[in-house]
Amino acid sequence: MDHVVVVGAGLAGVRSIEALRAGGFTGRITLIGEEHHRPYDRPPLSKAVLLGETDSTVVDSDLDALDVRLCLGTAAKGLRDGVLETTEGELEYDGLVIATGATPIRLRGEGRQHVLRTIEDALTLRERLVPGARVAVVGAGWIGAEVATAAARAGCAVTVVEAGESPLAVALGPAVGSHTTDWYARAGVELRLGAMVGTVDADGLTLMSGARVPADVVVTGIGVRPAVDWLKGSAVRLDDGVVVDEHLRTSLPNVVAVGDCANWWSRRFHARLRVEHWDTALQAPDTAAATLLGEEAVYDPVPYFWSEQFGHMVQFAGHRDAGDRMVLRGDPRRDPKWSVCWLTADDRLAAVLTVDRPRDVVQGRKIVESGRRLDPLRVADAAVALRDC
Ligand code: FAD
Repeated sequence: MDHVVVVGAGLAGVRSIEALRAGGFTGRITLIGEEHHRPYDRPPLSKAVLLGETDSTVVDSDLDALDVRLCLGTAAKGLRDGVLETTEGELEYDGLVIATGATPIRLRGEGRQHVLRTIEDALTLRERLVPGARVAVVGAGWIGAEVATAAARAGCAVTVVEAGESPLAVALGPAVGSHTTDWYARAGVELRLGAMVGTVDADGLTLMSGARVPADVVVTGIGVRPAVDWLKGSAVRLDDGVVVDEHLRTSLPNVVAVGDCANWWSRRFHARLRVEHWDTALQAPDTAAATLLGEEAVYDPVPYFWSEQFGHMVQFAGHRDAGDRMVLRGDPRRDPKWSVCWLTADDRLAAVLTVDRPRDVVQGRKIVESGRRLDPLRVADAAVALRDC
């Protein structure tokens, strides 16, 4: 293999390059990125950048030392066997890494709506988060909650409009999500649940019910779609992202996919997973690079992510199923630090969510990895360390 092309200059892209070099690849590497920036981290965009604590989140990776040809401001448009089509012409490859991430979903309407995916999005939104500004955030998911946190801290009058019956209902289910409802009120944020947005207008939102939410700034945080439209019509199989096996191989030879755009087969959970979180973009490239280099590597992680909202550190590890049983550790009404464990029918830990209880997530992730059985009664006792359950 002489030439590897990496498409997508985000974290998964740059990590793929590091992994290829670490794995002994000495051939040419070209990095194609639609944005005009060197790879940067996105988690701080909704945290430190919005809060005004930093302006740059560039990934600490020496692309010059890695001997990479950088093609920024260049988008991939199509793929044939061995040839990548880009806005700047065609490029032949022997190996290809697809790492094009995801793009935010927008609402209907003529009014201006901010989304939060790029550094430009974050810097533009930050300028508008001024004291007294009426900010309507659509979606009480991870991004919506973090934007509301920053906007409230900036002195804005914040309303969060959520279609579900609780915050984080899609990610965690309404029973767990409802334990975070108080956080909004305490931060002075108005939370409107069960409210569907019809359109974004020049002066705010119109809800499906006909009610209006007046706003100077509208931020849409209702999720993302994998950025794979450019692969339509190619031989790469798509289904909620790029379909890959446990080696991160696509349906096209010598083409792998990683990060937010990859939908991989998890041996551990017997399910297809597409995880839009930082840890996946960080770790999966090791497997993808090894696969390209002809090794038998398998990607089979216990997924992990975190969110910082309303002064709380929220962490999650594992993969929960609708049938898993929820066990609370601690009482969220009395104690601000609590966790939830999801147990399978045979008392194995499927997933753990923690609020300001970092030990539970560290121990829980190891337990999910080990697949060992737990005693549910001990799990329900927050005073017992999870590793001793
Ligand atoms: P991306 O970072 O999206 O990079 C993909 C790159 O590919 C982009 O630069 C894009 O422009 C480029 N691209 C797309 N299409 C093309 C094309 N056709 N041709 C060339 N280039 C293309 N995760 C957590 O675990 N915890 C957090 O607290 C957290 N906070 C977040 C906050 C924000 C605001 C955002 C947006 C994400 C957050 N995440 C968080 C998620 C995490 O940042 C992502 O999972 C991670 O960035 C995915 O990396 P990636 O390289 O797969 O994709």
